[in-house]
Parts: sequence; C-alpha cells; structure tokens
Amino acid sequence: MSKLVFATGNQNKVREIQQIMGAQYDFLSLDDIGCTEDIPETQPTIEGNALQKARYVYQKYGMNCFSEDTGLQVSALNGAPGVYTARYGGPAKNPDDNINKLLKELTGKEDRTAQFKTVIALIIDGKEYTFEGIVEGNILKERRGEGGFGYDPVFLPIESDQSFAEMTAAEKDKISHRGRATTKLRDFLLQR
Ligand code: IMP
Repeated sequence: MSKLVFATGNQNKVREIQQIMGAQYDFLSLDDIGCTEDIPETQPTIEGNALQKARYVYQKYGMNCFSEDTGLQVSALNGAPGVYTARYGGPAKNPDDNINKLLKELTGKEDRTAQFKTVIALIIDGKEYTFEGIVEGNILKERRGEGGFGYDPVFLPIESDQSFAEMTAAEKDKISHRGRATTKLRDFLLQR
C-alpha cells in the first residue's frame, strides 16, 4: 500500500502516533503533499471532526489518509469542553489558558471525573474506518509534571498515580486515549 497521509498539523500527535505505530510505518505529512491551508473542523462530535478532516484531504488530494480528533469530556461540566477542547480558554488555543479555565470551572466541584476520547478516521480507496480510544481519569486541582502536552499536567488517569505529564512518553502511550486508538489502527493495517 502507498504511504498514508497523516492529516494533522499537530506535531505532538505525529510524535505520539509515530512512536506507537513503529518505524515500519512512514507517513506523509500535510506539508509533504502541499496542504498548507487550515482544514475545517466544524462538526458537533469528535468522530465527525475526525472524519471531516480525513475526507477533506482524501477529496482534495486524492490520497489515502487518516486524521485524529481528541476531546476532553468532564462529567461535572456535562461533557464540556468536548469538541471545544482546543479553544476552551480562548481562540488562541493556548494550553495554559485552557487549563486555567478548566480549573476555574471545576472550583468547588466534588466530581472531577473526566475522560479523554480520541477518534482516528482512516480512508483507504474511498472506504472509511474509525478507531476509538478512551481513557478515564480525574482532573487534578493543580498542575503536576513537565512532560506531554495540552491538558496532560492536570489529567490523572485511573490506572496510575502519575499525571500524564509526569509519565514517560512510553508510559502515557500504553494507557492513553491516543495510544488505544492508535493500537487499533496499527492492528487493522497489519491485518490488511
Ligand atoms: P484537537 O484534537 O487537535 O482538536 O485538539 C484537542 C485539544 O485537546 C487540544 O487542546 C490538545 O492540546 C488537547 N489534547 C489532545 N490530545 C491530548 C493529550 O494527549 N493530552 C492532553 N491534551 C491533549
């Protein structure tokens, strides 16, 4: 099969997914195919956004591809920020602002349970497939750790007493939403 395009501009996602997939999978980036525009991401669900991004690249560039979309869903906030996770703290999509807003919204709330959900959408020769990964956890009251990205310093997965930002990349990949979705993608591609 020809190389897949990974339809994302987020280098953190590229690093994590490449690490899990292994060296035998060598993806093309959006830059590699000359896609420099912002890909629309306007759907009301995480799955919808993942499919929208992959469909955009498949339809415009005619190349087999996959994309991923991730959201943080907090129980006490009725599933917010959800599809607004990237711009929760404002249009600048600043991770510090996002975390500050989240901690503020949860002030005084007893229930701090949350989950990260990743959906990977794959399109091969016009056929669409989706792979989901979820990790459950709690939102910490303060940041812990320097690793990872995004909300990692305040996310404590139920499987661990370390925040995602306190883990090594391999430890996070093993239990994370993205790790779980990517393992499904890898197994699917291996069986083809
Ligand atoms: P999107 O999937 O590019 O729309 O990003 C969703 C938002 O979730 C961004 O603010 C990311 O920083 C954040 N995010 C995505 N994956 C992770 C993760 O593995 N840990 C922490 N934050 C994440």
